[in-house]
Amino acid sequence: MDDEQLLRYSRHILLPEIGIEGQERLLAAHALVIGAGGLGSPIALYLASAGLGRITICDGDVVDLTNLQRQIVHRTESIGRPKVESARATMSSINSHVEVTAVHERLSEERLVELAGPADVVIDASDNFATRHAINRACVRQRKPLVSGAAVRFDGQVAVFDMRRPEAPCYACLFPDTDDNEDVRCAVMGVFAPITGIIGTFQAAEALKLLIGAGEALTGRLLLVDALSMELRTIKFAKDPACPVCSGTS
Ligand SMILES: [Zn+2]
Repeated sequence: MDDEQLLRYSRHILLPEIGIEGQERLLAAHALVIGAGGLGSPIALYLASAGLGRITICDGDVVDLTNLQRQIVHRTESIGRPKVESARATMSSINSHVEVTAVHERLSEERLVELAGPADVVIDASDNFATRHAINRACVRQRKPLVSGAAVRFDGQVAVFDMRRPEAPCYACLFPDTDDNEDVRCAVMGVFAPITGIIGTFQAAEALKLLIGAGEALTGRLLLVDALSMELRTIKFAKDPACPVCSGTS
């Protein structure tokens, strides 16, 4: 780290759990973020400000006026631009050291597997079950830690699926991939702006902890947030030995 970086990251370096060594791990790390919307916004902002070395951010959408109520990485002048280009511009304006790769695509499962390969952590900031299950399968195949989040109305949830560990449950152990999984979309149901910020920020915190190797990850635990009552609950869950996605990997 040069003098500018030592200053920029000084409040991290002061933390004994991070220090110079932990900050250097972040500078050398590569995160794959899928989604540049409500959850992806705070994830992108915190990973960039915290000094991740490389961030690959993927989203097939363009910025729309209805996004700006909660998708804080985007600006009014970005309406009509690809979300990933808008996110990259904001991230680079905060921290030009970060190498941001913008992938303006709807990702196939094979593409997810390919993109997950070089990543140290995968962060799911998508908004539908089909994509979440495809990301999970890619992480199981590539044995990558997955930080998953979801938010709608006033409710949100976060969990970590550390597929580097054979005993860790995967997303499908918790939410089996059945046909009756109905997507509850923001477009129809509404979403309280700060709940996406709360959940995305929790995801960013878990991703940074995994990369630094600090604390206890939210592995085998689902954190549920109700922003109306402002109550947080944690539910423990275990690997499903009959899971069609991850059984046989241990
Ligand atoms: Zn599983």
